Amino acid sequence: MDFDLFVIGGGSAGVRCGRIAAGHGAKVAVAERRFWGGTCVNVGCVPKKLMVQAAEYGAWAADAAGFGWDIDVRGHDWGKLQQAVTAETTRIGGVYRRLLDGAGARIIDGDASLVDAHTVAVGDERITARHIVIATGGASVMPEFPGAEHCLVSDALFAMPEKPRRAVVLGGGYIACEFAGILAGLGVATTQLYRGHLFLRGFDADIREALAAEMREAGVDLRFETGIAKVERAGDEYLVHATDGTIIETDAVFATIGRRPATAGLGLDAAGVAVTETGAVIVEPGGRTSVPHIYALGDVTDQVNLTPVATGQGHALADTLFGGNPRTISLANIPTAVFTAPPIGTVGLTEAEAAKHGEVDVYLSRFRPLRHTISGRERRTLMKLVVDRPTQRVLGVHMLGEDAGEILQGFAVAVVMGATKQDFDRTIGIHPSAAEEFVTMRTRRPDQLAKAAE
Ligand code: NDP
Repeated sequence: MDFDLFVIGGGSAGVRCGRIAAGHGAKVAVAERRFWGGTCVNVGCVPKKLMVQAAEYGAWAADAAGFGWDIDVRGHDWGKLQQAVTAETTRIGGVYRRLLDGAGARIIDGDASLVDAHTVAVGDERITARHIVIATGGASVMPEFPGAEHCLVSDALFAMPEKPRRAVVLGGGYIACEFAGILAGLGVATTQLYRGHLFLRGFDADIREALAAEMREAGVDLRFETGIAKVERAGDEYLVHATDGTIIETDAVFATIGRRPATAGLGLDAAGVAVTETGAVIVEPGGRTSVPHIYALGDVTDQVNLTPVATGQGHALADTLFGGNPRTISLANIPTAVFTAPPIGTVGLTEAEAAKHGEVDVYLSRFRPLRHTISGRERRTLMKLVVDRPTQRVLGVHMLGEDAGEILQGFAVAVVMGATKQDFDRTIGIHPSAAEEFVTMRTRRPDQLAKAAE
C-alpha cells in the first residue's frame, strides 16, 4: 500500500483526521479539489460570521448615539467587506494546508475518486491505501420551480460583486435565517419566504417565535406558509411569483433550502460503499462504512451537519486508527448557535421534545438588555431552561439574544455533565450580564404555575 490513510476532502473533517493521523506517525495523503478548509472556511461558517458582524455594526453605530457618540454613518462599502472577508478565508485556508504539510501529510490538489476498495484515482495517478476516509461534505440543494436557474445558492453571497438593493431568501433553516439577518443588516430590502407555519423547525418554539418578532422589528419582510411558484427575469430584475399570489420584484433570489451529501462521482459503487437514497454515506458510530476499512465523516454522512462535529469525528477516527486510543464522539447534547440577528444559542432538548419523556419545569425570562435601555433599540432577549421535574436535571438551555453563542458554550458543559436546576441555583451570577439570568431564574413560567394551582 502507498499510504496508511488516504483522505478525500480537505474540509473540517478531512484535514483534522489527516493531520492527527500524520501526527500519530501514519503515512497520510489528503486530496482536495476546490478549496482547503472546505465549506466552513470558504463559503460557510467563517465568511458568514464575519458578514454577520459586518451587519451588526450598522445598528451598533446607530445605538451609539444614545451613549453620547455623534457618528455620521454614510453607508457601507460592500467591495471593501468582500475583500477583507476573502483575505481572511484565504489566510485560514492556507493555514489548514500548512498544518497538514507540517504534520508530514502529502497534499494533493485534485479530484479524487475510488477505483476499488483500496485504490484512489487522482487524474492519471492510482494510489493505494490501507484505510480510506470520505470527507467530501455537502452541496446546496437547488429548487425545482420554473425559473430556478435564476436563483443563487449560499456560496454566491461570498462572491457577489455588488450588494443587491433587494433580495428574496427562500427557506427557514440555519442559512436562510442567517442570510436574511446579514442582508437586512447591510441595508438590503429583504423578504424571507418559508413554507411552514414557523421557521427553524426543530428549535424551541418560544425561541422561534421570538426570533420572528425580532426579525420583523429589524425590517425583514417575513412570510410564512409561503413559497415560490416561479421566478422570471425582467430586464435587470427578477419577478418572484410567491405562492401567496403576490409578485416580489427583486435583484437577487437566494435558494437556501438545505444541503445534500456530495457523493456523486466518487466511485462509491466501485468500492462497494453503501449510501442512502439521498446519497449520504451510511456509517456506524465511529464512521465505518459498509466496507470495513473505508470511513466517512462530517456532512457527507448527513447526521449532524456542524463543523465541530466533523472535526471531532475526524480527530476521534485518527486516534482510533493510529493513536492507540479507540473512541467515538457523542452526538447527544451538541450545542449550536444560529447567527441570526439577534443570535440563537441552544443545547439539549426543546420543551416539546422533553415533554415527550415526562413532566418538565420551564423557566423563561424575557427582558430588554441593559445596553438597549440606553440605545433605544427595541431588542429583547429570551432565555429558557427546560428541567426534568422528577430529577431536576437541566435538559435544555435556550437563548435568543446578543452573545447567545458565547454564553451557551459554557452552559453546554453543565448540561453535558448532567447539572440540575439546583446546581444552576447555587452558582453565583456575573453581574451585570445577561448570562446571570440563567442562574437566577427561580419562578416557573406563569402558565405552568397557573396549571399547578388548578
Ligand atoms: P436546513 O436543513 O437547516 O434548512 C432547510 C430549510 O429549507 C428548511 O426550512 C426547510 O423547510 C426548507 N426547505 C427544504 N426543502 C424545501 C423546498 N423544496 N422548498 C422550500 N423550502 C424547503 O438547511 P440549510 O441549508 O439552512 O443549512 C444546511 C446545514 O448547514 C444545516 O442543517 C446546518 O447543519 C448547517 N449550518 C449550520 C450553521 C451554524 O452552525 N450556525 C449555519 C449554516 C448552516 P422545512 O423545515 O419545512 O423542512
